[in-house]
Amino acid sequence: MVKAIYPGSFDPLTNGHLDIIKRSIEIFDDFTVSVLNNPSKKNLFTLSERVKMIKNTIKLEGLEDRVNVDSFEGLLVHYASRKAAKVIVRGLRAMTDFEYEFQFALMNKNLDKKLETIFLTTSEPYSFISSSLVVEVYRLGGNVADKVPQPVFECMQKTI
Ligand code: ADP
Repeated sequence: MVKAIYPGSFDPLTNGHLDIIKRSIEIFDDFTVSVLNNPSKKNLFTLSERVKMIKNTIKLEGLEDRVNVDSFEGLLVHYASRKAAKVIVRGLRAMTDFEYEFQFALMNKNLDKKLETIFLTTSEPYSFISSSLVVEVYRLGGNVADKVPQPVFECMQKTI
């Protein structure tokens, strides 16, 4: 029984994140998407908005029995240990992600030897999608309806 956590800001969830979620549930027995509540980071959407958008998307995809949605504060290793999770899932788009993700994974390994980080490489259609770029393009009037799940797009229309 392998329990995994997919942590992130998800500000907001994109189709790239959703792809990682769908592929992860084919690998892990118990899977939780967990939104980081970091009060020192300026997020566009509030924690509850980010959680709600993910929950609505998971429901729309009919995955509510296979994906848990949660949030956490503080150190990821402490949260993972509380949840008795063995694996952290992260996504990799390009070499630019690698340096940060590599350092993050090594720090977590240093803090908790039992916790493994597993990387899933992005699927090609999502390789250029990031939350911040999607928001920027939307703000400038570009079409992002095909880059985020529908509940996220609706929330963006109301918020931005
Ligand atoms: P962070 O946790 O650094 O704030 P995000 O919330 O944006 O990052 O993303 C969470 C995780 O999902 C990160 O590992 C990130 O690299 C990954 N990710 C983001 N967008 C994509 C994408 N389009 N394809 C694959 N992985 C992605």
